[in-house]
Amino acid sequence: MNAIILLGPPGAGKGTLAEALVEDGYGHISTGDMLREAIRQKTPVGLLAQGYMDRGELVPDDVIIDIIEGLIFDSVAGKKFMFDGFPRTLVQAEKLTELFSKTGSCLDRVVLLDCPDEIIFSRLTGRRVCKSCGAVYHVEHKSPTEEGVCDVDACELYQRDDDSEETVRNRLFVYASQTKPLVDYYDAKGLVSHIDAAQGIGDILNQVLQTLG
Ligand code: AMP
Repeated sequence: MNAIILLGPPGAGKGTLAEALVEDGYGHISTGDMLREAIRQKTPVGLLAQGYMDRGELVPDDVIIDIIEGLIFDSVAGKKFMFDGFPRTLVQAEKLTELFSKTGSCLDRVVLLDCPDEIIFSRLTGRRVCKSCGAVYHVEHKSPTEEGVCDVDACELYQRDDDSEETVRNRLFVYASQTKPLVDYYDAKGLVSHIDAAQGIGDILNQVLQTLG
């Protein structure tokens, strides 16, 4: 397979960018989505991951590597994929390099979404999600017509546990200490493209598509 990695702090827009790149033919591998699905299905991995995720901590490397290992060996050769939220530690990045070399896969580019902490903090702590349909709002930038009520289906809006102020602070700390070192790791391989993620998603997408050529 050929792959790209979307790297950047939580709330930089990796998920939204990923949705747009799916339209461009990329398969989407999101470890966060997989873990949330495991929690919904109450699998052993889900039960183990829940506490870490609620506290804004990283799920242990061996759990994540098991998930990814299975996926890479099952994936179809010749397809292009994007990793969203993986790798998040140097151990994970080194394992991915090893798996790629074993399977003859190629890492084409690492797209780094750069965004100041203040913008991330406001984006995440102001985010509200519909309990029923999952529509996403923001208390300042995209408020619903009636406070706390979804415009689509009139169901209640809620704040995700990992979007509380304390957890967002922790997620930013975890990013800076454990994930940011990956920028140097991939820079040394000449793979990183820096994208200004404080701009709107349309501009981000244009810049990323230009970068990916
Ligand atoms: P995300 O949706 O990518 O922001 O991930 C949500 C949460 O899932 C993170 O805060 C972590 O607790 C966990 N998680 C997702 N991907 C990883 C990973 N590659 N390594 C460790 N934990 C992860």
